[in-house]
Amino acid sequence: MREIQRLDMAGRLRLAEARVAELEAKLSEATQLDGLTGLPNQHRFTDRLHQALIQAQRQGCAVGVFVLDLDRFKRVNELLGHSGGDDVLCQVARRLESTLRQGDTLACMGGDRFLILLPELKDSYSATKVGQKLLEAFRSPFRAGGRGLQVSASLGICVHPDDGMDASTLQAHAESAMYRAKERGGNRMECFTSTLNAVSLERQELEQCLRDALANGELQMYYQPQFHMDGRLAGAEALIRWNHPLLGAVPPVKFIPLAEENRLILPIGEWALRESCKQMAKWQALAPSPLLLAVNVSALQFANGDWDACVVRALVESGLKPESLELELTESLVMRQGREDILPLHRLREIGTRIAIDDFGTGYSSLGYLQRLPITTLKIDQSFTAALLAEKPDISSEHIVRAVIQLAHNLNLQVVAEGVETEGQRDMLELLGCDVLQGFLLGRPLPADAFESLLESMAAKAFLEGDRPLGDEVTAPLPVRRGVDRKSKTRTA
Ligand code: C2E
Ligand code: MG
Ligand code: MG
Repeated sequence: MREIQRLDMAGRLRLAEARVAELEAKLSEATQLDGLTGLPNQHRFTDRLHQALIQAQRQGCAVGVFVLDLDRFKRVNELLGHSGGDDVLCQVARRLESTLRQGDTLACMGGDRFLILLPELKDSYSATKVGQKLLEAFRSPFRAGGRGLQVSASLGICVHPDDGMDASTLQAHAESAMYRAKERGGNRMECFTSTLNAVSLERQELEQCLRDALANGELQMYYQPQFHMDGRLAGAEALIRWNHPLLGAVPPVKFIPLAEENRLILPIGEWALRESCKQMAKWQALAPSPLLLAVNVSALQFANGDWDACVVRALVESGLKPESLELELTESLVMRQGREDILPLHRLREIGTRIAIDDFGTGYSSLGYLQRLPITTLKIDQSFTAALLAEKPDISSEHIVRAVIQLAHNLNLQVVAEGVETEGQRDMLELLGCDVLQGFLLGRPLPADAFESLLESMAAKAFLEGDRPLGDEVTAPLPVRRGVDRKSKTRTA
């Protein structure tokens, strides 16, 4: 006080101004926060939503707006009294907060209703993922008034720009979705648009079905034959198939990315590897001159610590020789790895396993890097094969394929062309010096019993023709040309 008295008039004025500014800031903070939970209130939420919409329009991303309302909260208040109810509300706020990421906003509208803002969303589907996590936060009971209490919530979701362009429309739409969730019994999430509901439902359903697929025996391995240029059968690529009793055949391009997202690819990939190794070991007995089995490996399997041990287990269990197994990794996957990460590849190569780069030409491989990898094979992506001698021949594809084959041979690698559909493509690939062919022209992926019949009929045909003794490398009847006088690198072990 004495200090103030010592100040001159101008000094006192400055001090008073500073105090007023401080009080104003406190007041404004107080008017932007919910008194009970300390969360932002509707006012601050709307401000942040405005900002997020401006930012999203600049960056072209989506924004999620959710309204969450606790189910039958009146009963909680009746049971525990208002202070008990308040205690539960604060606990709910903390649980929801810990589910969200930094940069998201959780606000309380007062009462038992919460608002959630997700700026910079990738797509609508990610919104439903966050929604699921929010509902999961209610799984375990809350503790209040000395007792455990199960509380649930109804959640309404909408996403800018699909479901609205401005703050008030988005919030109104999220609210109407929340009421629909209540109508349907609560403890659930609803999306504003029916299409989004359908999409998320389909994905959620598909995810659940995929979880059951392995246990229900709905997954099956198919085998697509691969041939040397002179017509000998080189081996087969194992390709997974999913036959769902109601959905029918679900193509791998649809379920493999889903399986990668939820890590189901780990058990599925391991099953595919073990199953196809067992199958190929059996076929080796039919054809004493070994065939090669190519198996696709996903990025997640590769990143999983004990991946090489898993491959070794499949080999030991099946009795398949390491030289008879070729692991296919995509170019982009291999290019993303550091020196340490590719150690499992080196270890597998050391025991004789072959390593192929799948879909080669679609990533941007540095040639120097390629040389340091322990690989044995390049698989030219089918888009290049398709462009060879297409209706409008693509000269640059021909150049690329020629260069890839030369590069591979210089590095002592074998070249497999995928997606060979026409005789013209086959002839061109032969001219360009390709080693092995795979595609619908030569054979579609087949279930194990059909592949086995093919194997037997080809062996028998070769025997009748007196070409080779039964059980030698099997020869393709047509349309692979035979007796071509060119050096073909042997692909079988
Ligand atoms: P990919 O490894 O590049 O396999 C080749 C794909 O091309 C297969 O599709 C095959 O059926 C198809 N194909 C073969 N010849 C021709 C042809 O002449 N023309 C055309 N248009 N297509 C041809 P599919 O079986 O649908 O598999 C798609 C992708 O799914 C595979 O591409 C692979 O990346 C992945 N995949 C399949 N099975 C597995 C698996 O067991 N594990 C993992 N991680 N991925 C798998
Ligand atoms: Mg492949
Ligand atoms: Mg491929």
